[in-house]
Amino acid sequence: MDFDWTEEDVEYRTSVRAFLAENLPAGWHGYDKTNLPKYKADARAFCEALSARGWLTQNWPREYGGQDASPWRHAILSEELWPLGEPRGSQYMNVNWIGPAIMVAGTPEQKAYHLGRISAGDVFWCQGFSEPDAGSDLPSLRTRAVRDGDDYIVNGSKIWTSHVGTADFCFLLVRTDPEASKRAGISILLMPMDLPGIDVRHIDGFVGEQSFHHLVFTDVRVPAVYRLGEENRGWDIVRRALSFERVGAAHYDTATLILNEVVEEARRTGLLDDGEIQSKIGEAEAAIAASRLLTYRVVDLRAHGSPPTTDSNIARVAQTQALRLVGELAHVVFGEAGLESHSPGDIRRALAYSVAAGTTEMQLDQIASGHLNLPKFKG
Ligand SMILES: Cc1cc2nc3c(=O)[nH]c(=O)nc-3n(C[C@H](O)[C@H](O)[C@H](O)COP(=O)(O)OP(=O)(O)OC[C@H]3O[C@@H](n4cnc5c(N)ncnc54)[C@H](O)[C@@H]3O)c2cc1C
Repeated sequence: MDFDWTEEDVEYRTSVRAFLAENLPAGWHGYDKTNLPKYKADARAFCEALSARGWLTQNWPREYGGQDASPWRHAILSEELWPLGEPRGSQYMNVNWIGPAIMVAGTPEQKAYHLGRISAGDVFWCQGFSEPDAGSDLPSLRTRAVRDGDDYIVNGSKIWTSHVGTADFCFLLVRTDPEASKRAGISILLMPMDLPGIDVRHIDGFVGEQSFHHLVFTDVRVPAVYRLGEENRGWDIVRRALSFERVGAAHYDTATLILNEVVEEARRTGLLDDGEIQSKIGEAEAAIAASRLLTYRVVDLRAHGSPPTTDSNIARVAQTQALRLVGELAHVVFGEAGLESHSPGDIRRALAYSVAAGTTEMQLDQIASGHLNLPKFKG
């Protein structure tokens, strides 16, 4: 059995690198969002160029603007882009899970409008999931949407929302039936961000300026035709979408980049002679290799048409553990200054990813029940 990349895949990776040499925005510094209009314009131009090559949504079906390409092609692109600080901006989410969710549950009009814009590289989304009292326990979310004629009236709030500064739309989870059991009363609204009544509040960013916002909704009138899927049946769509989100980023290659910087710095300062540092570097290297293979397992399952499985939780835990190991090592080798964002391999982000998209503890809970069939812990 040959576990290596095919010749075509190697050629593709080479052409992606050539593309990057030509199309990476001038002065690109990864996640620097201090000049948001420039950040958004750069990400849009980059995505439009990817789209013109047919690469932005290449793994989508042709009928939705894709090329029917293998998920491996998409994985190669992701591996080349993440260590650079993801020049697609939030558009990586569009391709990984927002578009696929719309393909599964959208009306013909929603598919035509949103999937067309996503595959053209022309639109930015944010995800309105977490609330001040609903993070790990997401199904307990309380942002309320009440039907009023042809509209829903939305009141409530979302917190820790990434990419708000560039977002044209929000993939918003709302409660439409407060009487039903937690998971049974949730709906999804594909909400334009320019509707009246959306208040965007600043949150100091541990992982950089403009990283998170608090969204407060006061009587926001959202047309009911913007609902994705059936009313009160949003949870099934979200579960599937989250499974795609968990492995949509090639964090193992970001981890490799940081680890290489750490080794270089340790060599320069003489720390590389320290046995404890050496063994931590070995541990990090092994964790990165394991997380790469576990992620490839999920890509392989997708390539064979498998529905989402807990393998994506396992891969996510492995990726965030690898990031944590290199983040902690970087902290030791670079000192406090190393926590500042000093390169595209942003160390503070490396430490934060074990919370994003469901904390490691929640992923482990799901692995315990869904993969190992262990009984639920009752506390
Ligand atoms: C970089 C980053 C980007 C993010 N982007 C977004 C975004 O775009 N949109 C969005 O909606 N949210 C976003 N979030 C928020 C993220 O999804 C939540 O922070 C996460 O789900 C945890 O929720 P919480 O912060 O409320 O913590 P809590 O749920 O309060 O958890 C606190 C601690 O308790 C533990 N815990 C809770 N319940 C259990 C349990 N049953 N078993 C074991 N341990 C438990 C958790 O693991 C955690 O350690 C982002 C977060 C980060 C760090």
